[in-house]
Amino acid sequence: MKSATGRNGAHHPLVSDAAWAHILASMSEEHGARHLSVPTSPVRSKSARLRSVLGGALALMCLAALLAYPRLERSYAIAIGDRDSATLELAVQNLRGALQRAEVLPALLAERASIARLLRDPDNAGLLPFVNEQLRQTALWLDVSDVYVMDATGLTIAASSYRTDRSFVGRNFAYRPYFTDALAGGIGRFHALGTTSGERGYFFAAPVIDGTATTGVVAVKINLDDFEATWAESAATVIVQDMANVIFLSDRQDWHFRTFGPMAEAALETIVATRQYPVAALRSLTARRAALGNAGYETVTFSNADGRNAYIMQTGLIAAAGWRVSILSPLAPAQVQAATTLAIALLFGLFVLLVAAAIWQRRIQLEDRLAAREEARARLEMRVRERTAELDTTNMLLREQVDERVRAEAQLRRTQAELVQAGKLAALGQMSAALSHEFNQPLAAVKAYAENAATFLDRGREAEARENIRLISTMTDRMAAISKHLRNFARRPQDKTGPVPIRAVVDDAIALMGPRIAAAHARLHDTLPDADLWVIGGRVRLQQVIVNLIGNALDAMEGVDQPEITLSLAVTEGRVKLMVRDIGPGLSEAALTQAFDPFFTTKAPGQGLGLGLSISYNIVRDFNGRLTAANHPEGGALFTVELDLSNAPDKIVAQ
Ligand code: ADP
Repeated sequence: MKSATGRNGAHHPLVSDAAWAHILASMSEEHGARHLSVPTSPVRSKSARLRSVLGGALALMCLAALLAYPRLERSYAIAIGDRDSATLELAVQNLRGALQRAEVLPALLAERASIARLLRDPDNAGLLPFVNEQLRQTALWLDVSDVYVMDATGLTIAASSYRTDRSFVGRNFAYRPYFTDALAGGIGRFHALGTTSGERGYFFAAPVIDGTATTGVVAVKINLDDFEATWAESAATVIVQDMANVIFLSDRQDWHFRTFGPMAEAALETIVATRQYPVAALRSLTARRAALGNAGYETVTFSNADGRNAYIMQTGLIAAAGWRVSILSPLAPAQVQAATTLAIALLFGLFVLLVAAAIWQRRIQLEDRLAAREEARARLEMRVRERTAELDTTNMLLREQVDERVRAEAQLRRTQAELVQAGKLAALGQMSAALSHEFNQPLAAVKAYAENAATFLDRGREAEARENIRLISTMTDRMAAISKHLRNFARRPQDKTGPVPIRAVVDDAIALMGPRIAAAHARLHDTLPDADLWVIGGRVRLQQVIVNLIGNALDAMEGVDQPEITLSLAVTEGRVKLMVRDIGPGLSEAALTQAFDPFFTTKAPGQGLGLGLSISYNIVRDFNGRLTAANHPEGGALFTVELDLSNAPDKIVAQ
């Protein structure tokens, strides 16, 4: 069963679709506002600044390190010099001690009588071996390299080394200065590479004075190699230079007899003359020297085949020997120390820089995040303001629309009331033909009965006359009833909505439609129960609906042989359904959807206004009821009026 029901849409009827669209759009935009994009922050430029500052600081640190390095190296070098000055002092003391100890020996030995005797009698075969052996023993006791005796010509006549291959005996040392010095009466001292032994040594000599004459010279040679062995144990190098700048002693073997600094021409001549050193070995050491601090230190840089070697040099004097003793401490540890210190400082600086950079970076990020948040908040606020303004506008629009709707509804209600009235008048017009037929018949009968009554009275047949008058009275009652219904129908309904007895209302409608039903020769099946059923409605308006439905049914069955209208009633769950069914052609496809639209009609012009169902629909709706139209499965149209069930008014009062 198809049904055409109410016309209300899904959403509130007072808000237009356009307004809804606007509201929804603004809401979705509002939602969209949450996805604000984070503004492009100046992080990048700030980071670039940070990077350049970092780079600058790093460059500055490196520069400072470069500038600081020489000073640092210098101070470490001075510290090393200070440390090694004690070693130098010790070396000087030892050397000086050794020389001083040996210095007195020749003079003491020269006083030996055996030596004087031997000088007096050099060919004494008995004495010579004795003296030789005595000298050998003496050398051993004194721990000196050699002790020997020369005659006045410089010829060695006895020596401690008499037994060895390198015996001095028979050799002449007149060219040595120590000999000449001693012969002249002083103490001879000299250092040289031994021409016989090939060993470096320090020579001391003293004259042998026999009576008043100097008959010979006693010489003592001490070996200084042990000092070199001691010095070799330390990292520092010790050099001993003589007045000619020749390195005579050093733990660096390769430096022996090298000159350190310029050598005078005269000095070279002396060396050649005295056969002091092998002349071929006298090569200059190339070194760059520079003063270091004010403690008398210098830096010495040797450039040779194996690279550059730098040393810290300090020098002490052994005045008696005319020697300068220098200690050369390697500069490398100072350089390493300076570099290490700087590296540590740089690393520390770098660490501090990195920590500062990290803190700065964090601050930049934090600031940017705050700025971004602030911006987003401001933007959101602006959007909220915009939305609020839009919503205000929308609200105003809605309010205007609501007002308009209210006005339109009032207008509609007025129009509806007028239409109800117009509908009633139309129905009245339709009915007038039937009514005039209804009224004419009884009127004609009344006239006939009245004439008959007059005739019977004339003839004195009173009883028949009375019967006729009674019939007249019945006829007028019937006419009065019709006219009463019409009056009710035509009057603008003032009836209130409330409980109405449905049976009585249907009876009134049937009575009203009686003449039309009779004229159409239609049969009316009234299956309504006689029980006292009350529904919520207005008596006159409900009657109008039923009249209208019966009228439509009669219209629809115009071409039907034996028209039939069935009225039935059903009660379910507090609702009453009154059904009006005919056996006409039923509702067309168009009528099924539009029957309740105002002015929808399939009837010929002048016969239908298309208002009946529309008015009826609104009337039933006013009662909180429903009017529906459908086709009955067995043919014909079926209209259902659904209303609220109610208690009888007296019961309501009783309650
Ligand atoms: P009107 O009767 O003036 O045409 P209504 O609003 O009462 O106006 O009816 C509208 C239309 O509904 C009718 O023209 C008709 O086509 C259709 N209609 C109403 N009642 C019936 C019915 N019982 N059987 C078939 N069609 C009907």
